[in-house]
Amino acid sequence: MSPTPFISRNDVLSWGRVHRQLQEVAAPRFCDELPALLDGSASTSCLAIGLRRSYGDSCLNSGGAVINMGGLDRLIAFDETTGMLRAESGASLSQILAFAVPRGWFLPTTPGSRFVTLGGAIANDVHGKNHHQAGSFGCHVSCFGLLRSDGSSHVVTKDNQPRLFAATIGGIGLTGVIEWAEIQLQRIGSAYLDVEIIPYVGLDEFWTIAEESVGKFEHTVSWIDCSSRGANFGRGIFSRANWREDEVFTPHDDQAWKNVPFDAPAFLLNRFSVAAFNELYFRASKAKTGIARQHYAPFFYPLDAFLNWNRLYGRRGMFQYQCVIPADEARVAITSLLDGIARSGQASFLSVLKTFGERASPGLLSFPRPGVTLAIDFPNRGVDTLNLLSRLDVIVSEAGGALYPAKDGRLSPEMFRRSFPRWREFLEHKDPIMNSDFWRRVAE
Ligand SMILES: Cc1cc2nc3c(=O)[nH]c(=O)nc-3n(C[C@H](O)[C@H](O)[C@H](O)COP(=O)(O)OP(=O)(O)OC[C@H]3O[C@@H](n4cnc5c(N)ncnc54)[C@H](O)[C@@H]3O)c2cc1C
Repeated sequence: MSPTPFISRNDVLSWGRVHRQLQEVAAPRFCDELPALLDGSASTSCLAIGLRRSYGDSCLNSGGAVINMGGLDRLIAFDETTGMLRAESGASLSQILAFAVPRGWFLPTTPGSRFVTLGGAIANDVHGKNHHQAGSFGCHVSCFGLLRSDGSSHVVTKDNQPRLFAATIGGIGLTGVIEWAEIQLQRIGSAYLDVEIIPYVGLDEFWTIAEESVGKFEHTVSWIDCSSRGANFGRGIFSRANWREDEVFTPHDDQAWKNVPFDAPAFLLNRFSVAAFNELYFRASKAKTGIARQHYAPFFYPLDAFLNWNRLYGRRGMFQYQCVIPADEARVAITSLLDGIARSGQASFLSVLKTFGERASPGLLSFPRPGVTLAIDFPNRGVDTLNLLSRLDVIVSEAGGALYPAKDGRLSPEMFRRSFPRWREFLEHKDPIMNSDFWRRVAE
């Protein structure tokens, strides 16, 4: 079969839409096209990409080639008694759920969007609201097929090639192309959860609720108001949930989208509109205090209801800043981060605070680790935003924390090395032709 040609495109953006550069793109439909594509891009560099739900530049390879894996989206095998699923790496979590939920199975853990591919979930070792119990996505991967640019093809498990396994989970696409993977799904008793909403008025309350929820609730997460100071500083809405057992297995509906059809004007998002939104959101959520039955789609994926919601940030796009702070330092550091953000007046309304559990992530460059993670969107206001994020880096760094490559588009090499002390070990497994804009910035 002749290889799919690479086509020059300037419309390949990541979710933050800040970075806009030409990419050479191939979109294969079959795994046997991949060796020729890797070979064909050997003179430059190459990167397998998924649905580009990463916010910054880890899924971009400007001036080089990218292989869009979205066409390799077949579910290959499923054992209905054990829940072991094998699928091509371009299959989306949405596809997997549409298949698995009616059969009484769910993803072992899921990020806040289901429009993420299996390959992307592994390459960023993503985490979800159940991290404190389930660990990261990579904890549930039993094996995968990896194609390297030297033409070798490996079936990798953590027993047969432990180092390549650890380098590829969370390896941001740099160890080769993941062709397919096998994951252990989780048995569920319903497509619905009992979700409890608890408003809190400050960080002290957050820590107490978070602590008491860890052992009793499988899923926990919190929205936090990053714009308020004074009496409302650190207020938020805590959600915690467990699966129901009512044996109703209705899957989600991907057609129920609302579209954001154009880039919103930048002035719409300012300190006043964000403060007003946060006030309304806090009050509306407070009115829902208590326990309610909720389908998994609005609980895990509230933003997926709006196709292209990232366009709300206007043409200049946005940065997301996600850090994790070790538990011992978290109270002080999270207070400082929130204080700096509230003073800057630059935050948007999308801000999430969550505690990670103790289960070790399997990847050399995995982001999830014990502690507390804060994720916040910032509209791109150029140098003002970059300066703010650098100030936040100092707080994270002094607290011994780390930043998440999946969300990043501006991290410095020093901060990367501090965040991922095993990066030298990782280098031994990096495929020589795989590269990304992120990697060129932090490691070359
Ligand atoms: C609304 C929203 C909510 C989110 N919530 C969370 C969350 O709660 N937790 C979390 O951890 N993340 C979260 N994310 C981030 C997202 O889960 C990750 O960025 C994920 O990796 C994106 O997958 P993708 O298929 O879009 O991959 P891309 O973004 O296209 O690529 C991600 C990385 O995977 C590599 N890659 C992709 N496919 C392959 C392959 N076949 N072989 C080798 N490498 C490959 C790429 O090279 C790149 O390094 C969220 C994103 C959005 C937009």
